[in-house]
Amino acid sequence: MLFPCRNWKPTLAIKLSLLVLTGSVIVLLLKPALWVWVLSVLCINHGILTLAGLIPRSTLLGPNITRLPQAAAQRGEVAITIDDGPDPEVTPRVLDILDQYQAQATFFCIGKLAAQHPELCREIVRRGHAIENHSLSHNWYFSLLDPWSIHREVSNAQQVLSSISGHAPRFFRATAGLRNPELEPVLAHCGLRLCSWSKRGFDTRENNPDAVLKSLVQNLKGGDILLLHDGSSARTARGTAVILDVLPRLLDNLAQANLHSVTLRSAIP
Ligand SMILES: [Zn+2]
Repeated sequence: MLFPCRNWKPTLAIKLSLLVLTGSVIVLLLKPALWVWVLSVLCINHGILTLAGLIPRSTLLGPNITRLPQAAAQRGEVAITIDDGPDPEVTPRVLDILDQYQAQATFFCIGKLAAQHPELCREIVRRGHAIENHSLSHNWYFSLLDPWSIHREVSNAQQVLSSISGHAPRFFRATAGLRNPELEPVLAHCGLRLCSWSKRGFDTRENNPDAVLKSLVQNLKGGDILLLHDGSSARTARGTAVILDVLPRLLDNLAQANLHSVTLRSAIP
């Protein structure tokens, strides 16, 4: 399946970094004795790019959607995004809760899990939700991969998710939001846009649903992109996935604030 590419436009930080690299090579060729200074500059340059990749909402390495557009915010729209599934135990119950509230959500699915549970993925789409790309394997070392491995992780997931769900994902979310400068050219090549979030409750490790909910609803307003997990959700003291406790109360909060949850692809042109 072919995906429409978009042009890769390096950010100012990437352009400056390329300038530093080129300048370093020239200085080394002309004045090899300055290698210590050149090495120091290169280390600082590398450190800045690494730090930018460790901040999930950073835009230094490339475009990064952190909120819905203004028009969607004015319509009272927020986007609930649910990562790391599909999970055969948790996802069907999440779908039922969303149905009860007539809310739509975006599921950032892992390609390999989607391949194991294709019918569950199709059910997600049948119920009016969207499936987007959360890599093929969800490796913890995703941000350390070389460009070719990143391309494999992104494009193979794109193939799997497209053929199962019947539509090509438009958005990509990096594992734990961590990435390196090579990701954005790959996303451009695959026709994807990086999407992070405006609020999260760390529900993969926070097992107190009250704390997760509090983080999500603090200063909640139109345009927010909220992050929850069905695939790797922490468990409450009663052993249930945190999302199952948080989601109904989150949707109650949205209703009280005259907000409603839509898919990313319906809110972002
Ligand atoms: Zn994830």
